[in-house]
Amino acid sequence: MRIVLLGAPGSGKGTQAQRLAERAGIPQISTGDLLRAAVARGTGLGLAAKAAMEGGRLVEDSLVLGMIRERLGESDARSGFILDGFPRNLAQAHALERLLAELKQPLDAVVQLEVDPAELVRRISGRRSCADCGRVFNLLTSPPPTGAAAVCPKTGAPHRLVQRPDDNEATVAERLRVYDEKTRPLIDFYRSRGLLRVIDAQGDLDEVTRRLVRALAPSAGAARARRPRAATAAARRKVADGRTRKRSAKSARAGTRSKKTPRRQAPRAKK
Ligand SMILES: [Zn+2]
Repeated sequence: MRIVLLGAPGSGKGTQAQRLAERAGIPQISTGDLLRAAVARGTGLGLAAKAAMEGGRLVEDSLVLGMIRERLGESDARSGFILDGFPRNLAQAHALERLLAELKQPLDAVVQLEVDPAELVRRISGRRSCADCGRVFNLLTSPPPTGAAAVCPKTGAPHRLVQRPDDNEATVAERLRVYDEKTRPLIDFYRSRGLLRVIDAQGDLDEVTRRLVRALAPSAGAARARRPRAATAAARRKVADGRTRKRSAKSARAGTRSKKTPRRQAPRAKK
């Protein structure tokens, strides 16, 4: 299963990616982690990225793509991956599409985690971290423990909670606006390719994970692909000829979403 997760800051994307990775037994590939790891290991790409960051420049897409390419070559990514934090804009989405086509590992789905902007502001404004040990808390969703468990491992005193300067409400609103502006076109891009699933990412953490898993369930697409008598099945087989099975299942799914082949159902995947 090859997946991209999209979600604004505060949508819980990282947490859900991690949960899904554990469940599906495929790696969560966070480009932030890749960058930090490459810099720490001092690889060629890492050194180039480090030079860019130290010069106050953005790390070029080509470097990030190079890291993704390297990462996808590792054995644990053979049965799939969850990309978290990339792509962030349309140019990156096109570049990723080209890379994955070249590797013959096209995406199976892109899931967008929807959360009301007001809720995002609330969640991000609740973020605090300990100035001594660095642990991250959220006053709303994961407050620091009280009593004996509340002791900071670094100091032996209670955690010293501080707020990141750009996590205040005014800055958060601006960050969300920028995110929205850059990612809206991405959503249309993946929708046009029949890959987009949207889930409600508000509410209980476990419930959101269940929605995510349901949105990715292959059952609907696979059942349609197997149905023999449908007139489109033959055409689909022709199209799929010479490609892998996975691809054909994917194009079948994409096909049933187009206006030309209206179908009765598309049950869970839609929501
Ligand atoms: Zn602490």
